[in-house]
Amino acid sequence: MSSPTIFSRIIAGEIPTDFIYEDEFCVCFKDVHPQAPTHVLIVPRHPIPKLADATTADQTLLGHLMVKAGHIARLLGVEEAFRLVVNNGAGAGQTVFHLHLHLMANKKFSEGGLNG
Ligand code: AMP
Repeated sequence: MSSPTIFSRIIAGEIPTDFIYEDEFCVCFKDVHPQAPTHVLIVPRHPIPKLADATTADQTLLGHLMVKAGHIARLLGVEEAFRLVVNNGAGAGQTVFHLHLHLMANKKFSEGGLNG
C-alpha cells in the first residue's frame, strides 16, 4: 500500500488548510505555488492516483468534479474565463498522485493555445 499523498493528509485534516469549497465528494483549496492570480485545486476525497486510472465506476465522481468546477468558478467570480488542467503522469508534470483539477483564472491565456 502506497503512503498517503499530501492531498489525502489535507483531506484527513492532518495539514490545516482553508477550504474554499467542500462537500461529501470533493474539497477545493488554493494551490500553494499559484501559476495564475487565481489558482485552486479541486480534489476528490476518494483518491485516484491519476486520470488514466479512473474507471467507469468513477464516472459520477468525475462528472461531479466538472460540475463543481463551474460552481467554484462562480464562487470566485471567474465563471466567464477560467482554465481547467489535469496533469496525468510525471511526464506531463503531475507531482501529487491523487487526481485533481487545477482551476486557474485572472491571467491572460494564449488564444487557441494550451501554453501560457
Ligand atoms: P500536479 O503537479 O498537477 O500534481 O499539481 C500538484 C499541485 O499541488 C502543484 O501545483 C503544487 O503547487 C500543489 N501543492 C502541493 N502541495 C500543496 C499544499 N500543501 N497545499 C496546496 N497546494 C499544494
